[in-house]
Amino acid sequence: MARVNEHYLKLRSSYLFAEIARRVKAFQAAHPGARLIRLGIGDVTQPLAPAVVSALHEAVDDMARAETFKGYGPDTGYDFLLEKIAAHDYGARGVKVGLDEIFVSDGAKQDSGNIQEIFSVDSVVALTDPVYPVYADSNVMAGRTGPAQDNGRYDGLVYLACTAETGFEPPLPDRRVDLIYLCYPNNPTGAVLTRAALARWVDHARRNESVILFDAAYEAYIRDTEIPHSIYEVEGAREVAIEFRSFSKTAGFTGTRCAFTVVPKELQGRNAQGEPVSLNALWLRRQTTKYNAAPYVVQKGAGAIYTGEGQKQVRAQVDSYMENARVIREGLAAAGLTVFGGRNAPYVWVKTPAGVTSWQFFDRLLNEAHVVGTPGSGFGPAGEGYFRLTGFGARDQTEEAVERIKQRLR
Ligand SMILES: *Cc1c(COP(=O)(O)O)cnc(C)c1O
Repeated sequence: MARVNEHYLKLRSSYLFAEIARRVKAFQAAHPGARLIRLGIGDVTQPLAPAVVSALHEAVDDMARAETFKGYGPDTGYDFLLEKIAAHDYGARGVKVGLDEIFVSDGAKQDSGNIQEIFSVDSVVALTDPVYPVYADSNVMAGRTGPAQDNGRYDGLVYLACTAETGFEPPLPDRRVDLIYLCYPNNPTGAVLTRAALARWVDHARRNESVILFDAAYEAYIRDTEIPHSIYEVEGAREVAIEFRSFSKTAGFTGTRCAFTVVPKELQGRNAQGEPVSLNALWLRRQTTKYNAAPYVVQKGAGAIYTGEGQKQVRAQVDSYMENARVIREGLAAAGLTVFGGRNAPYVWVKTPAGVTSWQFFDRLLNEAHVVGTPGSGFGPAGEGYFRLTGFGARDQTEEAVERIKQRLR
């Protein structure tokens, strides 16, 4: 038998969602008449915008005619999409990004998971706690960690605990690290980084020659005009940061799959001799070897998001999810709970009542209000004592869930 990659055996099974499913199933078996409302959803629920749907249909028709049929596309994406990304996502915010710095893909999950491949296996990796599990798990698989601890953290990774005291802004690492994963607006806390906070990180990375892996999957949810949408809005970030973007939460593409990663030309790592190596060149080599950008049809659909109609339609979707987040935030605050997030992100991070753990709160909400959320401790030990609710549900369901919590959770 072939030997397996032993590093995979260190991975902790995805306990969180399996355990939620187990408890929900047990509840339903005991209360067959109860109507559950799920406010733990980390996925969009509204259908694709009409402008996207027509572009997808037209692109399918292109594929049906010899004159417009497309085979393999350009390795890093079609110019029609790259140009729109450069102009609308960056140019409009005063940021210059070259077309050869943008890599279109089928997901920010894959890109943020794969990016670690272009760095040395002995790189020191920092990430936040609580955290989106992809960043940790992809480094476990690559052999950059020791075994898992009982609390779910891995030996060898540097964890930056995000607490209410600092507005869930991570502290700078207390030792030099090579790679720093940051996700803002944050999943799961809903926190954002101000321009000053981002500048502190960029400055830290420049002084320590670290690389920031910046996940901006939720930038479309930013409402506060002072909050940067891209890390490149901060001076000097092009020398230290890779940025991940996605159409998943911006335009309902979680099932359609389209995203992009920006790797600036200035960004460099070094080889064993200490000589600089372009990270853009390495990522290009990686992608052209193992990957072929997203399908033509999907890139056409994504391109339609940037038309006048498309912008209006996808903004309306994001607005409606943000209205749900407001309903949750204000409703739970009225019920006497302390709530964070939900202002520039679809996630509301609820402090559990004193002495109540994340899982105890999960059970209370399930049993008393018939509402399903996500225990904060599932995202890391610093998430203990918190609970994640999301604005991705339907409005009437969201309102009803909040009413139930207000009435029954006193
Ligand atoms: C949803 C999400 C993404 C988007 O991933 P895709 O693969 O593009 O769907 C990226 N990062 C975080 C933290 C997310 O929650």
